[in-house]
Amino acid sequence: MALVEALVLERQHVLSLRPIELPMEVGPADVKIAVHTVGICGSDVHYYTHGRIGPFVVEAPMVLGHEASGTIVEVGAEVSRLKVGDRVCMEPGIPDPTSKASRLGMYNVDPDVRFWATPPVHGCLTPHVVHPADYTYRLPDNVSFAEGAMVEPFAVGMQAATKARITPGDVAVVLGAGPIGVMVALAALGGGCSSVIVADLVDEKLAIAAQYPGISTVNITKDSLEDAVAVVTHGWGVDVVFECSGAAKAFESVMTLPRPGGCVVIVGLPVEPVPFDVSLASVKELRFETVFRYAHQYERAIALFASDKVDLKPLVSESFAFKDSIAAFDRAVEARPTDVKLQIVME
Ligand code: NAD
Ligand code: ZN
Repeated sequence: MALVEALVLERQHVLSLRPIELPMEVGPADVKIAVHTVGICGSDVHYYTHGRIGPFVVEAPMVLGHEASGTIVEVGAEVSRLKVGDRVCMEPGIPDPTSKASRLGMYNVDPDVRFWATPPVHGCLTPHVVHPADYTYRLPDNVSFAEGAMVEPFAVGMQAATKARITPGDVAVVLGAGPIGVMVALAALGGGCSSVIVADLVDEKLAIAAQYPGISTVNITKDSLEDAVAVVTHGWGVDVVFECSGAAKAFESVMTLPRPGGCVVIVGLPVEPVPFDVSLASVKELRFETVFRYAHQYERAIALFASDKVDLKPLVSESFAFKDSIAAFDRAVEARPTDVKLQIVME
């Protein structure tokens, strides 16, 4: 253990930037990384404002942050794939590789997964972290640290696009233009969709999505999403609906928007159970998929960034210095509609 500076959530509503004991021993299969950039995620903010997410309750001081990139400063004795000086990003969830879920390829749903900044596991808003090399990925020279720290939320979009089993030319709807909705829309385009209609209630959020070729937008407080879908698909319906709002109300339209045989990918996590019209789903033989984080998405996400097929740089709304981390979190709590991703830069 070592006493190191970190952004610590002491308890609900109380953050401090202070020294805390964290494990810093580099095991044979580990790397030590000088953290460069950390993105602030909705879940970090939720722990700050609510002290819990579902069953995960902050009962002891916890370091926040799980969307990170940095530079390797030390490698364990058995690590051959990475070397000191490599620019990398880190996958925050470490499963038990021998678990049944991991052996099925679904390590994201391993019940024993240890995920940064999910109680009781500390996150990465601290100058150095020790991480398994197997969950640390090299960034090509043309992918910045800012983009590297966006691989984590983008991997959720990659998982959603993968679960949709997109066929080239598919048309999709994305409900919700928050950070996750925009990432899902871009992953769907990267995965072969010809066009994506993004729906939200807030014009500023839609304007951010609309800057990308291939994305059109509908403000559902003013216009009919059903009509927009009918125009684009000649009344047939979209191939895929990605639910990314987490709003119970949005579930009312997930049955009506897809074509017969279409797919609904549920990414948003409503806090309460939502009604599910089985008959409506059955007469179209809709296929439903759910998403919990991601598995095996980092390398392909990085490849899409490197190929310039996906450009997330316009989504970084502002960067804060590590010493201003608390101000960064208070800005995130403000939830300005023009903010997509706020990031903290360590050096
Ligand atoms: P966010 O709150 O920033 O975005 C949600 C957006 O949905 C907002 O822009 C809001 O205006 C919009 N919205 C609300 N009601 C709507 C409606 N009826 N129709 C269309 N849009 C509506 O949240 P986010 O960070 O983008 O995350 C989105 C959801 O994804 C959340 O529920 C979050 O918990 C979930 N999430 C799931 C996973 C996963 O692994 N499944 C991972 C990360 C986040
Ligand atoms: Zn996140």
